[in-house]
Amino acid sequence: MIFVEVAVPVPLRQVFTYQCEQLPEPGCRVAVPFGNRQLVGMVLGPAETPNDTSKIKFVTDVIDRTPLLNDTMLRLCHWLSQYYLHPIGEVIHTALPVLLRKGGSAEPVEEKWWQPVGDIDVHLGALKRSKRQAECLQLVATEALRDSELKTVFSSTVIRELEKKGFIAPDYRKPSLQPALWLEHFAVGSKPLPDREQSVAITAISQARGQFAPFLLEGVTGSGKTEVYLQAIEDVLAEGKQVLILVPEIGLTPQTVSRFAQRFGIDVGVLHSQLNDKDRLAVWQRARAGELGIVIGTRSAIFTPLRFPGMIIVDEEHDESFKQQDGLRYHARDLAVMRANSENVPLVLGSATPSLESLNNALANKYGHLHLTQRAGGASKTLQQLLDVRDQRMQFGLADGMINIMRQHLAMGNQVLVFVNRRGYAPALLCHHCGHSVDCHRCERPFTVHRSQHRLQCHHCGAVKPVPARCEQCGETSLMTAGVGTEQIEEGLSQLFPDKKQIRIDSDSVRGKDKLQRMLSDVNAQKYQLLVGTQILSKGHHFPHVTLVVIMDCDGALFSADFRASEKLAQLVTQLAGRAGRASKPGEMWLQTHNPGHPLLQDLIHNGYDHFARQLLDERQLAGLPPYQSQAVVRAEAANGELAWSFLQQARQLLCHDAVRTHGPLPCLIEKRQGRFRFMLVMQSTQRNAINAQLRHALPNITAMPLASKVRWSVDVDPSDFS
Ligand code: ADP
Ligand code: ZN
Repeated sequence: MIFVEVAVPVPLRQVFTYQCEQLPEPGCRVAVPFGNRQLVGMVLGPAETPNDTSKIKFVTDVIDRTPLLNDTMLRLCHWLSQYYLHPIGEVIHTALPVLLRKGGSAEPVEEKWWQPVGDIDVHLGALKRSKRQAECLQLVATEALRDSELKTVFSSTVIRELEKKGFIAPDYRKPSLQPALWLEHFAVGSKPLPDREQSVAITAISQARGQFAPFLLEGVTGSGKTEVYLQAIEDVLAEGKQVLILVPEIGLTPQTVSRFAQRFGIDVGVLHSQLNDKDRLAVWQRARAGELGIVIGTRSAIFTPLRFPGMIIVDEEHDESFKQQDGLRYHARDLAVMRANSENVPLVLGSATPSLESLNNALANKYGHLHLTQRAGGASKTLQQLLDVRDQRMQFGLADGMINIMRQHLAMGNQVLVFVNRRGYAPALLCHHCGHSVDCHRCERPFTVHRSQHRLQCHHCGAVKPVPARCEQCGETSLMTAGVGTEQIEEGLSQLFPDKKQIRIDSDSVRGKDKLQRMLSDVNAQKYQLLVGTQILSKGHHFPHVTLVVIMDCDGALFSADFRASEKLAQLVTQLAGRAGRASKPGEMWLQTHNPGHPLLQDLIHNGYDHFARQLLDERQLAGLPPYQSQAVVRAEAANGELAWSFLQQARQLLCHDAVRTHGPLPCLIEKRQGRFRFMLVMQSTQRNAINAQLRHALPNITAMPLASKVRWSVDVDPSDFS
């Protein structure tokens, strides 16, 4: 008998020893008894012979004959576990596709394909009044398509309807898994001539092939960053190597995918949160087998194994969706740096508004710094201006001056985008008689009024309730809304501009698979003149006919307790401005504010993000904040706030260290959520390692504290927000 070290998905910071007849290779899964359960664990290597071998349990089953994770991926899992102080078993669990976590076979799974049936022209004739179905049929008729690929463009309903009519039929195939299969189809399509700055960037990245070389590609919105990625990966693919591209949650559009697929004439593996487990596993397997040249995905795609790694790209690297906010709280961008390093490949971090972390690394020459300062194809820069709303008459949150500017743009036949940072009708419901606000009692925050559904919703915990007829405190019927959300602006705009068509784009209105896609293409087909929406509108979409961007109000961010608020505000404003004036039409952006003299706004508007960000870096250095110092947060929450507070108070004693300053317990920015009171300890140091060492040292004792089992607590390394 031999002893093996197994990582098991349980919240304990240790590995476990089991007995086995033969040593499976590290990276193979095994089924093991754990307590009274059977769990799927992963073999890490041989274990030392324990003193008392009689208690050591046996591996029930060796699931894989060959390792699922290679050395590099296993090493990354170890790094994640150490750096984020997260149990190795849970790290590996997170890194695997769901079906493999459950012990499913790693053999290629059958994939569902669609193929056309019968006479397409006849069918198309019958589909005259179902445009989407006709489009879908046409696509399938050009070439058989995977269900997962088809669903990135069309909704399940459209596909189901076609199947019901007998115009298309499913076909189940096992992937062939031939390494570098894409080379057979590889052909570089037509491409624009890069401008001088693009050429410099493409050459620098392309020449770094075969070695670890991180780059920050800092390019203003619409400067042709994607074009740089496309041309820089050409040689990588031609050599038979694979490219992994990470994009923000909402930035993964069929247009992005097809831009890559069309340029090179190859399949692109797509990984996003709405994929079902089977399709996800199929992409994972094809990437691992080296069959896919390009894999594009959101945060967790960074765990995709690659047989022939060639390059990693993180687009919109500043985006907050790259940081996971529960469980293993990793940052996919930071993991990408580690991964590129261990795979020996170039890494490109691209953004118009780089995070201060990446910018700092570039300015310190740790990253190659590439610039695109001009918009591609002759588009001119968006003019950015502040609109002083003090003493102006306001209608539906818009100042008279603003409404006039909107009128001018609309009169010229252009589109206007109105950004509001809140969805719903109004962020609060107040009693006009006694001032009482209708709050969610679990979160102690005002309910948001959603008029379209006639209900109140808590945006912190999701609780809903009907709109009350009377004030619960004084009984009067004089309830009124306070503040404005997207629904109210929508209502207001239809009164102000009754002859213009408008569309609201927020997370309420884009529910459903390809709804956002359809809305965006309708906007670009100029079916609407007014666009109202939230953050979704700031994320990388091209709106060639928008010439005016209106930002309703973002004064709150100027006075936020979160030190990152000004960075986030600047990124948002700059990204929004970037939506206007893409094509030949010059664009402008107006920001309504009660604080036109505020130095942050002044600097941003007049000097642009790059200057603003460098100023902010100086301020962070003076204030001793990230990226100049490192942070970690220990959070605790409990229905009884006293317990959470005491837990952190005790933990703090254990975390004391000369090189680390620990603040707290402090209330989190959202002090109460879902009925639990929330507190945090903030650890900060000039030495990243000191925080890690101290946490590592103290965690066993913290875990052993009696209070540790009475509260929900977690460790967050490099926290990105303090809510
Ligand atoms: P970004 O990724 O920075 O938003 P894109 O690569 O999407 O920019 O480019 C914006 C638009 O400009 C696209 O329509 C693209 O095809 C076009 N474009 C990019 N580079 C060039 C170039 N060198 N010449 C002409 N058009 C270009
Ligand atoms: Zn709530």
